[in-house]
Amino acid sequence: MRTPLTVLAIDDDAADLELLRRALEEVPDFAVSFLARHDAASGLATLRQQPVDVVFLDYLLCGQTGLDALRQLRASGDQRPVVVLTSKGSERIAAAFLRAGADDYLIKDDLNANTLSRSLRYVLEKHEHARQRAQLEAELYRLARFDDLTGLYNRRYLLDRLAEEFLRARRYGSPLCVAMLDLDHFKEVNDTYGHLMGDTVLATVGGVIRATVRATDIAGRYGGEEFCLVLTETKLEGARLLAERLRRRVAAEPFPAPHGATFFVTCSIGVAPFTPDMRNVTTLLARADQALYQAKAAGRNRVVLAG
Ligand code: GH3
Ligand code: MG
Ligand code: MG
Repeated sequence: MRTPLTVLAIDDDAADLELLRRALEEVPDFAVSFLARHDAASGLATLRQQPVDVVFLDYLLCGQTGLDALRQLRASGDQRPVVVLTSKGSERIAAAFLRAGADDYLIKDDLNANTLSRSLRYVLEKHEHARQRAQLEAELYRLARFDDLTGLYNRRYLLDRLAEEFLRARRYGSPLCVAMLDLDHFKEVNDTYGHLMGDTVLATVGGVIRATVRATDIAGRYGGEEFCLVLTETKLEGARLLAERLRRRVAAEPFPAPHGATFFVTCSIGVAPFTPDMRNVTTLLARADQALYQAKAAGRNRVVLAG
């Protein structure tokens, strides 16, 4: 089975284009659809409009425009495989193309099914590796920052960001508050409705938190059923209002129970402001934690401010 492959050749010499087209037809492992353009501008336009797997670019495209075209293509974020066609003795120019983002080069006098096949396999594999690496990087980025279940930041990333905001507050005196939220009697939710329903509740509460805080706030899952909000540029009164709104929204969220019934969960929230006497983040977190503890002790489903 020959792999279908769309090739775009950009070359101002019609005879060279024809040689390339014929040589590509002889490549045993690919069934090539051949597109030809005579100048850089129409070549780039074709790349924007049509699916193309590999580009063959003449280096002498009316002076420097072959290199310019390549730079323009890469600057636009297009990472498609590009093979440069050069004449014998112009390897230095080929090197400039490689630096500008070309994937391979071929000497025009050596064009045949063998050299083309090797080059095509090489650039396609290279391209596939780059694609997989980019995918892995995106996945690592996500894993390093987010909690899978709730979609909120994870504890490590949240603490990193809190440390930054803490420094900013100390340096510039900008207001900063931390709110700790813990679901009430969550063990009973698991015991009564099952662990899976418990997970659904956590995910939903994560969504409620995301929908309630501002884009500049940093919300994360701190532990099992405990969440932490870092409220930047927010004074204690503003933080109290937000916490109160959040508490009400969590309590109003219905969850399905057996036999068509519905159940609700509540949460307790402790809020603490940054104060200039605080030496480090731990003190601020501990104040919020103490307030949360007081909210629990006072009967749960409430917001308590530190101090
Ligand atoms: P309180 O009102 O005092 O906070 O009571 P509580 O039952 O919420 O507190 P406790 O800390 O005793 O229990 C927390 C429960 O949260 C126990 C644990 O099984 C559950 N939990 C922690 N992480 C997860 C999770 O990822 N999924 C589910 N379903 N449950 C979790
Ligand atoms: Mg709890
Ligand atoms: Mg807890």
